[in-house]
Amino acid sequence: MPLDVLLLGVQGSGKGTQAKRLSAEYGLAHIATGDMLRAAMSEGTPLGQRVKPIYDAGELVPDDLMIELIRERLSRADTDAGFILDGFPRTMAQADALDSMLSEIDRPLTVVLELQVPDDVAIARLRKRAAGEGRSDDTPEAIAKRIALYNQETRPLVSHYRLAGNLVGIHGDRPENEVFSEIQQAVEQAKVASA
Ligand code: ADP
Repeated sequence: MPLDVLLLGVQGSGKGTQAKRLSAEYGLAHIATGDMLRAAMSEGTPLGQRVKPIYDAGELVPDDLMIELIRERLSRADTDAGFILDGFPRTMAQADALDSMLSEIDRPLTVVLELQVPDDVAIARLRKRAAGEGRSDDTPEAIAKRIALYNQETRPLVSHYRLAGNLVGIHGDRPENEVFSEIQQAVEQAKVASA
């Protein structure tokens, strides 16, 4: 049985950090759409050139582009043992597309984890990161836009997956190692439940 994990959480929730650890621990393909787009932009591919102004403004890349990107990514062999989705789906249309892609191959998500942190904690972490990393979408305007879009477009997915029955909330406002061990427990339980 593959181990397929979806991680949800607002910008600054620690999602990317935990996704990397989880992928290393369980040998899962880490599918981080933001990283994929940044790679396309730095290589200057047609996709990269198309998404650059959207990305820099903190807006969402159109669903059809993202869905095709993920469809292609999920078809690669490194996802055979499992994957961790970090940054996709971000809209209900993307979630519907993912649900049908996965049901076509009879491979439901093992578990959906929501990293929960209070808004003020997320914003403080994000400001700190912005100072350190120099990402082109870390301007104050683009940060505000990204958080607003999370609340409007992505947060509703929490209820979607809660209804589907495989959502687990994780307390993200704690030291990184504690968050990771709670994630591991949730993953272990989900593995048993899906076996
Ligand atoms: P963050 O979660 O901090 O905003 P990401 O690296 O996950 O950072 O995403 C950065 C940007 O990439 C988003 O603001 C958006 O422009 C684009 N992006 C990434 N994933 C998606 C997606 N699933 N749908 C639409 N746009 C996306």
